[in-house]
Amino acid sequence: QDITERKRAEQQLFEAHERLNALMQALPVGVSFSDDPTCQHITGNPMLLAQFEMTPQDNVSASAAEPTAAGRRVRYFHQGQEIGDAELPLQRAAAEDRVIPAMELEIRLPSGRCWLAEVIGAPLHDAKNQTIGGLAVVMDISQRKRLEEDLRRLATTDPLTGAFNRRYLAQALETEISRAQRHARPLSLIMFDLDHFKRINDQFGHDQGDAVLKNIAMLVRDRLRHTDVFVRWGGEEFMILAPETAMPQALALAETLQAAFRQSPIGDIGPVTASFGVAEYRPDETMDQWLKRVDEQVYQVKRDGRDRISYRP
Ligand code: GH3
Ligand code: MG
Ligand code: MG
Repeated sequence: QDITERKRAEQQLFEAHERLNALMQALPVGVSFSDDPTCQHITGNPMLLAQFEMTPQDNVSASAAEPTAAGRRVRYFHQGQEIGDAELPLQRAAAEDRVIPAMELEIRLPSGRCWLAEVIGAPLHDAKNQTIGGLAVVMDISQRKRLEEDLRRLATTDPLTGAFNRRYLAQALETEISRAQRHARPLSLIMFDLDHFKRINDQFGHDQGDAVLKNIAMLVRDRLRHTDVFVRWGGEEFMILAPETAMPQALALAETLQAAFRQSPIGDIGPVTASFGVAEYRPDETMDQWLKRVDEQVYQVKRDGRDRISYRP
């Protein structure tokens, strides 16, 4: 019997297997696979085992039959909700016999470590195109998410005071105005401009001026609700967008801030005062009209001698 062909086929099979093995060992993403369609046993490449803090002997399957399987102690969350194992991409790919596109999951390990993953599922077929299992590609996106978060913060906040910037206020105004209109809810804006701030810079130096801005921002933040949006509008001008707040409460907040500024001397500089404008949103006005209205109130206080609050119901 001539076995040359068979030997060559065996050799090719061996090499294909080796290639796949080398790929699995070297891949910088996790790959998990199950060769049963009910996914009771799942294992993975070294990266996946590292991601899940497991060994090659551990069963990664969240639907494992044996109650002691390591995989059963992993918890999965999608968009803030805990999900069952049937909703995981590998299990769904095997059950629905289709590729499950990237799904973001928060994964909580038995050790307590928590990380974010992007997971894609795909079904595995035999030569007769029967589904015999599934695999999942698991990417750890925790760092990417952290960077995105950092970038978002950099793009929306002022580094000196930590307050939001003008760009962010524009977004927040749009959102809050339409919410206020839709549900007929009150919405208020407080603007304040520090009094004679140029003098502080001239007398004590720019660094001291910066320290005052930081200090003022801290005083304000301590007195806001978490839904209030605190914004550095310009050099020494700030805004507070206060949702669910009608004129009397907005005025009370401005008075609280005014009192806090007066009662909080800053180093050698002493207390710093500010001129406040308060305006509740009128359902028929545009964003610019509203901003102009509150700006005019501040201007009015400046003309009247500063350290006061101006409002028009
Ligand atoms: P008024 O009571 O009329 O508001 O007087 P003012 O001196 O506060 O107003 P003006 O607008 O003339 O001056 C504001 C000053 O704020 C001028 C500018 O150099 C200073 N300023 C703006 N941004 C910063 C900053 O980031 N740090 C410091 N230290 N000073 C700043
Ligand atoms: Mg100013
Ligand atoms: Mg000023």
